[in-house]
Amino acid sequence: MNTVRILDKEFELCIPSEKIQEVVARMAGQMNADLAGNEVVFMPILNGAFMFASDLLRRIGFACQISFLRLASYEGTASSGSVKQLIGITEKLHGKTVVVIEDIVDSGQTLDYILRQLSAYEPAEIRVAALLFKPESYRYSYPIQYTGMEIPAQFVVGYGLDYEGYGRNLEDIYQLKPKNSETC
Ligand code: 5GP
Ligand code: MG
Repeated sequence: MNTVRILDKEFELCIPSEKIQEVVARMAGQMNADLAGNEVVFMPILNGAFMFASDLLRRIGFACQISFLRLASYEGTASSGSVKQLIGITEKLHGKTVVVIEDIVDSGQTLDYILRQLSAYEPAEIRVAALLFKPESYRYSYPIQYTGMEIPAQFVVGYGLDYEGYGRNLEDIYQLKPKNSETC
């Protein structure tokens, strides 16, 4: 299937499942080499990271904890505007190595929220694993230790990523049919 239609938009295949699995295996290999022996808590961010986390974590060979988090948005007071809160933290993180698992890092704003809230729990270290990274859009300096693939600033769906809530179940990654020739 080289194109899919979701609601009003056409998407074309850009990263096939075989390639994704190869990248995920490479990332798990790096983590097994770097992190074995540490007290590690993997924290996938819902909903987008569910499929990536599931494939990645079954390849982790050392004892670890896994705890899913979610960013909830709510309207704050008029003065504070829209506020995002990280929900689901139940484990003690003090002194541990936290690995945030994200589907995609675009501007980095979401990651910045997450990192600021997690650091209040005083983990020894926070690392970030992102399957996809858009370097042209990234506006922060926090290093992403484990990056699967760098892609151009194009909108993608599939493998956990949605368009208007649809498309998360696709096993390949598709991009919005580009207006210019840039493809991932
Ligand atoms: P950021 O805060 O880094 O700008 O954006 C991160 C969030 O925006 C991601 O967690 C994801 O929910 C959404 N996002 C950014 N780029 C894409 C994309 O290409 N496709 C989809 N489906 N979501 C995206
Ligand atoms: Mg997300």
